[in-house]
Amino acid sequence: MNTRPWCYDNIEDYDLDRSTLPKVLVARNACLNCPRLIQCRLDAAALRDKGTPPQSQVLGAVAYGHDGKPRDGAALVNYFNSRKPEKSAPPYVSKIC
Ligand code: SF4
Repeated sequence: MNTRPWCYDNIEDYDLDRSTLPKVLVARNACLNCPRLIQCRLDAAALRDKGTPPQSQVLGAVAYGHDGKPRDGAALVNYFNSRKPEKSAPPYVSKIC
């Protein structure tokens, strides 16, 4: 298990507006080995309970869209494919996660 959260040194990878799909997948996997995983999931739950869910970011191994809804699998690929051109990396035409 890592002792220093991966996001501390790779924060852009966790921002769905600035990251790429491959980097988001790496970030999500890094969360699974993070000592703060449980706390981050509790934080995310508390934010959802307040009506202010995490947006456009990875938190606690979950990728959240702009609407605060978790994105996974094809929904995550579609999310990146539908981003505005100035923010997007090359489109991902196939399901890779
Ligand atoms: S679990 Fe939380 S603190 Fe750890 S890398 Fe993921 S977002 Fe960062």
